[in-house]
Amino acid sequence: MSSMVQSATIPAELAQERRLVTEIPGPKSRELHARRGAAVARGVSSTLPIYVSRAAGGVVVDVDGNSLIDFGAGIAVVSVGNSAPRVAAAVQEQVAAFTHTCFMVAPYEGYVAVCEQLNRLTPGDHAKRSILLNSGAEAIENAVKIARAYTKRQAVVAFDHGYHGRTNLTMALTAKAMPYKSGFGPFAPEIYRLPMAYPFRWPTGSERCGEEAPAAIIGAIEKQVGAEQVAAVVIEPIQGEGGFVVPPSGFLARLAEFCRERGIVFIADEIQTGFCRTGDWFACEHEGVVPDLIATAKAIAGGLPLAAVTGRAEIMDSVHVGGLGGTFGGNPVACAASLGAIRTMEELDLTRRAVWIGETMLPRLRRLQERHPAIGDVRGRGAMVAVELVRPGTKEPDPEVTTALAAACHRRGLLTLTAGTFSNVLRFLPPLVIPEHLLNEGLGVLGEAFASVDQGR
Ligand SMILES: *Cc1c(COP(=O)(O)O)cnc(C)c1O
Repeated sequence: MSSMVQSATIPAELAQERRLVTEIPGPKSRELHARRGAAVARGVSSTLPIYVSRAAGGVVVDVDGNSLIDFGAGIAVVSVGNSAPRVAAAVQEQVAAFTHTCFMVAPYEGYVAVCEQLNRLTPGDHAKRSILLNSGAEAIENAVKIARAYTKRQAVVAFDHGYHGRTNLTMALTAKAMPYKSGFGPFAPEIYRLPMAYPFRWPTGSERCGEEAPAAIIGAIEKQVGAEQVAAVVIEPIQGEGGFVVPPSGFLARLAEFCRERGIVFIADEIQTGFCRTGDWFACEHEGVVPDLIATAKAIAGGLPLAAVTGRAEIMDSVHVGGLGGTFGGNPVACAASLGAIRTMEELDLTRRAVWIGETMLPRLRRLQERHPAIGDVRGRGAMVAVELVRPGTKEPDPEVTTALAAACHRRGLLTLTAGTFSNVLRFLPPLVIPEHLLNEGLGVLGEAFASVDQGR
């Protein structure tokens, strides 16, 4: 499986190896970083300021010639790898034909074809419609607009540790104040935040979470929000920025069932979990849940900006003509890229590959947990995997050790990301086409990082 994936996705001239030729970041990256300081707004930060010159398969190469193993995939975007051949070819052909007419002015086939694919691939065999947009936040904004228009209700329920974007409405839906919300209010009204089924941190213990969480949430919607006021429940089937929180099995199904009984639109935010990442096309499938609306973005177009809302035809079509849209939404080049990315996922069977990545990573991380008591929890599904770091013997979050571990990985040429409401989660999102030897080497580097941080304490 591995060699087939490699030959179909990775240009032969870009060596799939970890290779450090300078310190990280190197002198050319530091020079660019200084230039950036005088030109780019400070509010945009970078996890690791190496400036990129090329990337493909499982590596990112910087301007100093360092080649790093990629455990981030640009935040779960380049699941098919950077510049995947089908994506690059489709983009080149489209960009030479025409770059933009605006779908609201003069339409084109690519937009329709992407919507057909979304309607086919998302859970459920009911009649569906889709709309294309530019970003995940914009998809969530539109899903809420559509749910409100359909139900003629206003309230929206979101969850602790949830992340839905940085626009005004999505900031209101997002849980974490710093850095996403602090100083940026006032926020949109009629948003109600309820507890999340977070097994590791459920107050009465993880075993009781599956039973108690739905009861607590449904009780709060009935008694505090008023179920008949609620247009939509918005939830990530596995939370991303909040720390890769995997709810107990059956939780999502119970919530979706309650929404159906009470005429509430169930919106799955699959922006991070979608497109093969968790070992299914969409994470809801693992739980047998069919959302009313599903928001997608990130991996949808192999690295080009594109997002979508897909859902039940009667809900999607309840909006008046002209009520939805945007200048760039469903740009023809992004649509061509998406068709190339989807075809790559099917041809290379990337759901199966995501399962294999999880089966490789989770046991290795559990063995690491036996040696390092700072690892409080190992969790994830498919190629969406994380460790939560605590002060040994407690559940107290340890953001300092998390930062130190990420830095130790970066110094050794492994690009990792952090997450979590308490900034104490190391998360791993390798491109689904990462070669086997790099996945194993990356896990080895992680072990070295743990050993070095232990020694430093
Ligand atoms: C990234 C993300 C968003 C926001 O997407 P943008 O394209 O950054 O606006 C929303 N929800 C989830 C779950 C995400 O991971």
